[in-house]
Amino acid sequence: MAREYMASHGVDLDSEMARIQFGQDVFKQAAGMLRHRQPPPTPTIAHLPGVLHAFERLVAPSLCHAHVHLDKCFLLQDPKYADLEIESGDFAEAMALTAKAKARFEEEDLLRRGRQLLEESIEHGVTAVRAFVEVDGQVRFRCLDAGLKLKKEFEQRCDVQICAFAQLPIFSGADGGDENRKLMAEAAAREGVDVLGSTPYVESDPYKMRMNVRWMATMTLAHKTHLDLHLDYNLDKTKEPLIWDVIDILKYWHWVERGGKGITLGHCTRLSMFKPDEWRRLKEEIGDLPLSFVGLPTSDLFMMRTECGARGTLPIPKMVEGHGLNAAIAVNNVGNAFTPQGSCDPLSVASLGVGVYQAGAKRDTEVLFECVSSRAKSSIGLECSSFDLNVGEPADFVIFEKNRTSWRTRMTIPEVVYDAGSGRQTIRGGLLMNRP
Ligand SMILES: [Zn+2]
Repeated sequence: MAREYMASHGVDLDSEMARIQFGQDVFKQAAGMLRHRQPPPTPTIAHLPGVLHAFERLVAPSLCHAHVHLDKCFLLQDPKYADLEIESGDFAEAMALTAKAKARFEEEDLLRRGRQLLEESIEHGVTAVRAFVEVDGQVRFRCLDAGLKLKKEFEQRCDVQICAFAQLPIFSGADGGDENRKLMAEAAAREGVDVLGSTPYVESDPYKMRMNVRWMATMTLAHKTHLDLHLDYNLDKTKEPLIWDVIDILKYWHWVERGGKGITLGHCTRLSMFKPDEWRRLKEEIGDLPLSFVGLPTSDLFMMRTECGARGTLPIPKMVEGHGLNAAIAVNNVGNAFTPQGSCDPLSVASLGVGVYQAGAKRDTEVLFECVSSRAKSSIGLECSSFDLNVGEPADFVIFEKNRTSWRTRMTIPEVVYDAGSGRQTIRGGLLMNRP
């Protein structure tokens, strides 16, 4: 399917795939970008050692974690934290258990757990990750240092963006957030930090929440990084969403005119209660701000409910198709009290989306796939390849293992969104990234 589809768009898949090799010069000519075959196709090299056969398999743009917490992954699996079991399963407990775990974070286990997350993600087809690492008075720069080390360690295999993240208040608490704010200011100036992030809703009142956003926006502009906020994480109709203030603040600071980079807003469950006129207003007010939303359905479903037990998560496909907004979905957490269930596979969230968003039609599954691949990359400010795999786009793909059954082939986007299977090959910049 992929070959015919790509041929209709001027790309010869046999020829392009024949160039995907371990470290050989042929693909270097393409400098990691797709290009037209020139000279004529050379399928005869497909039998040579080191040449990857993608014949009759689905080739799609590679996957991306638009939002994942690198430092607190696998706390429920690591024997070091075996005593920190979930009992009530609510947000307060998740914060308390994570605080206890953070008190024990050391470089050794931060690197070990983070490395495991990146390795497993690459096996699933991931070539780009926005990794959140916390900075506060408790962990100081331990998580950030480990994140920066992993970014370097994986630079040939995965594009790891580091988000220095204030999970704790930067304007509330006994010292008014002074220490956390000072540490975040230092982190923002560190080389290798690509994104600044915070959690305005942990501040003690709406005034301080706005101060949090204002300060983060100022720091982001000053350091020319991206901005990523965990926002409006509630399902309470009586609470005024902070998103309107965020947009006002960004416009007040002349974000676009000053060349501000991308703004990404995660969770935003409160917006799932918006009426049509509020969605229209949102689209209008965003205007030309480079703003994207990232839905985190596995976490939201576990953590968020109304008083009567109803669940809510951002209606991502509707936001994309119906309201023309930029949006993606992501795993958020892997193996901790905020999200105990799930894996490092972005496609598992797309698959969950079929049920959560009632998005089972072919076009729906394509949008869901985009939300963990091309749209996920765009939402964190990266260049991406489309389903068309156009000439000039990055040669970053995932190749799905073909089922042996003649009719259950896993050769279409709907099939891999319904049930992705586990066998995949990950290509980044034209080279195979899976460990041999
Ligand atoms: Zn998060």
